[in-house]
Amino acid sequence: MEESQIQTLFQNSKTFANTGISHSYEWRVEALKRLEKVILLYEKEIIEALRLDLGKSEFEGYVSEVGFTLSEISHTIKKLKKWMRPKKVSSPLIQFPCRSYINFEPLGTVLIIAPWNYPFNLLMAPLIGALSAGNNAILKPSEISVHTSKICEKIISDAFTPEEVIVIQGEVKETTALLELPFDHIFYTGNGSVGRIVMEKAAKNLVPVTLELGGKSPCMVLGENDLEIVGRRIAWGKFFNAGQTCVAPDYIIVEKKKKSALEEAIKNGLNSFYGKEVKSSPDYGRIINERHWNRLKHIIDESEVSYGGDGDKSQKYISPTLINADSSSASMKDEIFGPLLPIVTVENTAEAIEFINSSDKPLACYLFTKDKSVENTVVKKVSSGGLCINDSLVHLSSQTLPFGGVGESGMGRYHGRYSFETFSHQKAVMKRYQIFDILVRYPPYLGKLKIIKWLLKL
Ligand code: NAD
Repeated sequence: MEESQIQTLFQNSKTFANTGISHSYEWRVEALKRLEKVILLYEKEIIEALRLDLGKSEFEGYVSEVGFTLSEISHTIKKLKKWMRPKKVSSPLIQFPCRSYINFEPLGTVLIIAPWNYPFNLLMAPLIGALSAGNNAILKPSEISVHTSKICEKIISDAFTPEEVIVIQGEVKETTALLELPFDHIFYTGNGSVGRIVMEKAAKNLVPVTLELGGKSPCMVLGENDLEIVGRRIAWGKFFNAGQTCVAPDYIIVEKKKKSALEEAIKNGLNSFYGKEVKSSPDYGRIINERHWNRLKHIIDESEVSYGGDGDKSQKYISPTLINADSSSASMKDEIFGPLLPIVTVENTAEAIEFINSSDKPLACYLFTKDKSVENTVVKKVSSGGLCINDSLVHLSSQTLPFGGVGESGMGRYHGRYSFETFSHQKAVMKRYQIFDILVRYPPYLGKLKIIKWLLKL
């Protein structure tokens, strides 16, 4: 699409935002219901598109994309009235009589840029937040997950007028043109290099950004554990969507003496999920494209593989693979984003924490332990976007927890009420009354400072 066309569409969106139509509670709920209705109508097509893009099974496609989105919509509709209520806060005594509250108001027109790994969820979930907060939006899906991006466009054009919500397909050229425009917020999900470009461009127009990025999410297995459960939960979280999950356990840190028992438990988990012939399992996904397949194959070739390591380029298949690793291994350089699981060994908890804290702050951190003192130490000493104890991925499914990164793994948060807040401006309102006036703040100031100092301390 040409730059001038993008500019026109943006202007139309801005004009609609300025009418204030999207501000009412009724419009917001109705917009969410329209979206829900069309998603239900196209459920089969969405699942099929996800299969074509990522070899996603119907179960994974439903749980992590369609079902997740529908549940976010119904949670938002249920809670929206309460979220929209002005939030009362206390007032300083010095301003008595006075009332203070926070009013949540729409930002205007927002831009949502999504990646390819959960191409439906990561476009729709921020949109739900944007609509709930009374905004209209322009959506830019990933050009890599072509089938899902196409069905997303169909859903949006069926549910909304172009001024309300529109999908703009395209690659770097189109995204760059969009980033030049003075949106009221940009919500970007993807890798950190593009995240930097987004923030730089947004800065020119002083546009606030949410950056949902990635990185290496560690998974610690320390102290006492039931390894059968641990192995299964790690294998599930790591190999879901063939490891192409931003919060997948990127690598394991385990005490040396427990390594082989843990490896066995993970292999048993894998066996029970996919059987001996993983390649023919309908439940195991595929790598998104050849470029990523080649990248992962290169890591395998550079690694000490202890299990798996097979691939078939024609099917974009890579088997679940376990790797012996340390800090200098090829598999420990960048986020893996595929079904390769490096295992690093340490002597104790302190060494594990030091290992994690010597790198960027992760998006997710996993800890498996039955030991309360290990748990307390990790909670206090490791900073990460989120922490999940004794499971993997599932913290993401909670609508009452904020989801987002810290440091290199991103800025801002969403899901449930946090999405509503992200896409709202929290306007501070103070109301005073004209009943009487305390004259101490007015000039001449002579002799009044002492009284003010006393009043400010109350
Ligand atoms: P991607 O290549 O699809 O890119 C994401 C978006 O950025 C796309 O819409 C694309 O068109 C746009 N884009 C690409 N290059 C651009 C450029 N030069 N200028 C402007 N826009 C550009 O997806 P990706 O980045 O490969 O996604 C994978 C990464 O995303 C991983 O690092 C993963 O951890 C992270 N991720 C994070 C989350 C999260 O919620 N925090 C979720 C999923 C993925």
